[in-house]
Amino acid sequence: MRLISFRDGDREGIGFVDSRGGYRDAAGLRLPTTIAELIDSCRNDLSAVRKIDVEGLPSLPETARIMAPLLPRRNIFCVGKNYRAHAKEFGRSGFDSSGGGDAPDAPIIFSKATTSVAGPHEPIPHANDPFDTLDYEGELAVIIGREGRRIDRAAALQHVFGYTIINDLTSRGAQKIHKQWLLAKGIDGFCPMGPSVVTADEIEDPADLRIVTTVNGQVRQDAKVADLIFDVPHLIATISNYISLLPGDIIATGTPEGVGIGFTPPKFLQPGDVVAVSIPPIGVLKNTVV
Ligand code: MG
Repeated sequence: MRLISFRDGDREGIGFVDSRGGYRDAAGLRLPTTIAELIDSCRNDLSAVRKIDVEGLPSLPETARIMAPLLPRRNIFCVGKNYRAHAKEFGRSGFDSSGGGDAPDAPIIFSKATTSVAGPHEPIPHANDPFDTLDYEGELAVIIGREGRRIDRAAALQHVFGYTIINDLTSRGAQKIHKQWLLAKGIDGFCPMGPSVVTADEIEDPADLRIVTTVNGQVRQDAKVADLIFDVPHLIATISNYISLLPGDIIATGTPEGVGIGFTPPKFLQPGDVVAVSIPPIGVLKNTVV
């Protein structure tokens, strides 16, 4: 299933994406109001939801706005330098204050504040980067459906509710001077998310997915998720070895080669630029810089 979150006036609800990519309104179905509540209540058992006749639901009203699929209850887990070619471009960019090196020996985990989350069509606030060094990072994000601690790699995908897209927007200037990445990447509005969540039963292996990022229609990133240095099961096993994973937690898996600082001179985002991150079948996360 492909799920969306929407708001229409005062009304908030869960919707579905139909077989032709149209949005359907599930408000009449007595589902929870938010995908976060759905995840909490179903504990990864989607059998009841799967029985819903999506094509028979009314279309979402034109007035409805698609929101970020869910607001995590705590910071989003993120992974740094998790594609080999990107680790190299970052290392030679002059903005990597993490010690350099082409590829890390173990996953580099940091987080983005919940207040950075923005909707899939919301504008990107350029002025929130005090250094004028705004950069994009298209990423596959994993949504946890079932809690777990010390999750075994072999069982890891059983803890996944579904997948979405995030743009891990970054102030490269802040990333460089503060060494740690929390401030540079946790800036308000710097985590557009969506447009949909594709449930895990529809994606047998996330490594089969492909991610393409464009800026103003020009392809900047184009990679297979199979190119991850540390794959999705490895990330779940690593994080849960230290911190219990909870339903609704989100893990952004890292970005491929082709970010703005990979170019000489760097291609930072400017007001008016349109960034689109596409991962079929999740959809296209498209935001305009203002
Ligand atoms: Mg990133």
